[in-house]
Amino acid sequence: MFNQLPQISIVVPLYNEEAGFHLLIERLNLLIKNSPLTIEVVLVNDGSRDKTPLLMNELALTDSHYQCVFLARNHGHQLALTAGLAQVSCTDAVFVIDGDLQDPPELLGRFYEKYKEGYEVVYGVRRKRKEGMVKKFAYWAYYRVLKNISTIDIPLDSGDFAMFSRRVVDHLNSMPERSRFIRGMRTWIGFRQTGVEYERDARAAGEAKYTFKMLFNLAYNGIFNFSEFPIKFITRLGMLTMLGAFLFFIYVLVKMYLIGGVPPGYASLFLAISIFSGVQLLALGLIGEYVLRIYDQVRNRPLFVIDKVIKNKELQKRGQ
Ligand code: UDP
Ligand code: MG
Repeated sequence: MFNQLPQISIVVPLYNEEAGFHLLIERLNLLIKNSPLTIEVVLVNDGSRDKTPLLMNELALTDSHYQCVFLARNHGHQLALTAGLAQVSCTDAVFVIDGDLQDPPELLGRFYEKYKEGYEVVYGVRRKRKEGMVKKFAYWAYYRVLKNISTIDIPLDSGDFAMFSRRVVDHLNSMPERSRFIRGMRTWIGFRQTGVEYERDARAAGEAKYTFKMLFNLAYNGIFNFSEFPIKFITRLGMLTMLGAFLFFIYVLVKMYLIGGVPPGYASLFLAISIFSGVQLLALGLIGEYVLRIYDQVRNRPLFVIDKVIKNKELQKRGQ
């Protein structure tokens, strides 16, 4: 169907999204129809166990605007997104959205305007979140902590909802790191970047697919991949506890020789041992986290395994 390469690729990772699938496609179809831009949609099935792959298969075979990538198993949102970014064939820019319609696809035009002004990364900034209080607070606090300790200037309250220029996508694709925190990686790349404010809708259908554990991992990746804080924290903590121990030692000496009477031995010994073993375990754990990441990276496995790709024949012919 494409006589020329599409200008825009919309990448959508999907994991067990059968409940909202039809609504998603309806809204994307409207966008494709009404937009003056030529658009392809790259859907990525992240090892769903429901009907999502079936629905995707059907769609890709009947509508050539849709290219579908099927991963061999569930690799997680960041890797599913990475797989999608590796498949795009657009000339201008890539638009990344969630499959649950929390990021309104209709904002494509507004993001594209910014891209046309010369911004190579245009990211969505959430003005309001329609989510529970605890989750809202956790996000709010996390972004502020990360901003304070990270070595790059990651924008506040922005997730993966973004538009990237073609060359930013090429740079992202060339980055081999395994534990991916794409919102950090895109900041690291640089060029002109800007935010577009939007209201984040509630999930269109179904349950959130990010479990607490997955969110925690993502948060961890942000901190360990884009900050030197944890490893430096060990040294500082070590110094602080040494200082504490030294002061306590002086206190004991003063008490013994000047005031008289020794402090209760059992309690102070117990306290010292438990504090120091806690500090040591914490330090070991933090170092272990780095070792784990180094191990993961040197094993050098591919980032994901693709089961199959269904692409528009025209694009296939061009070898895109
Ligand atoms: N997702 C994915 N793989 C996963 C988990 C989630 O591809 O292992 C997709 C999911 O289908 C959705 C997007 O990532 O399109 C965001 O997930 P979710 O809505 O659960 O995250 P939240 O909005 O709660 O952060
Ligand atoms: Mg969501």
